[in-house]
Amino acid sequence: MQDLIRKLLSDLGEDPGREGLLNTPKRVEKAYRFLTSGYHADIDQVLNNALFTVDYSEMVIVKDIDFYSLCEHHLLPFFGKCHVAYIPTTKVIGLSKIPRLVDVFARRLQVQERLTNQIAGTIGDKIAPLGVAVVMEATHLCMSMRGVEKQNSFAVTSAMLGAFRDNARTRMEFLELIKLRSAAPAFTDRSASLACIGEED
Ligand SMILES: [Zn+2]
Repeated sequence: MQDLIRKLLSDLGEDPGREGLLNTPKRVEKAYRFLTSGYHADIDQVLNNALFTVDYSEMVIVKDIDFYSLCEHHLLPFFGKCHVAYIPTTKVIGLSKIPRLVDVFARRLQVQERLTNQIAGTIGDKIAPLGVAVVMEATHLCMSMRGVEKQNSFAVTSAMLGAFRDNARTRMEFLELIKLRSAAPAFTDRSASLACIGEED
């Protein structure tokens, strides 16, 4: 990878041999290895010993989980907040494991929609809850740095499974509890707020 980074620097018109760039290939490799470490993570190991059988059937919410990911179209960061909720049947996930789970999928090359679906789908698979909801709001540097959109625009994606999909009241309760930072219309009019997704240039 370091040879590729040296070639990249050269192609950009830089001198990979100058002092400030000498260790850059090594640093970039280390950074990319970390930012894509989710490919090698084992979900069951991450959740190890943290699935509990309980007698609790109310909504569990973990909100404002910070996440950082890389868009697969430009290899530029997108980052923001992730909100997760589920309604358990017999099992719950240790609360501290939810952010870990978000990291596993965020530390890959992603589009925000797939990331959102993967988190929801995995929770659904692992504890078979009555429903799972995941909402992610993010800033995409491939949009804001390139001036594609207003700098403060968020892309909002959601995955609603089971009770959150079938029951409008349950869904509204969740949305009320997480109080999105972005304007409410961005949530209902998703096509207007999605960044990067489907973008070709
Ligand atoms: Zn992008």
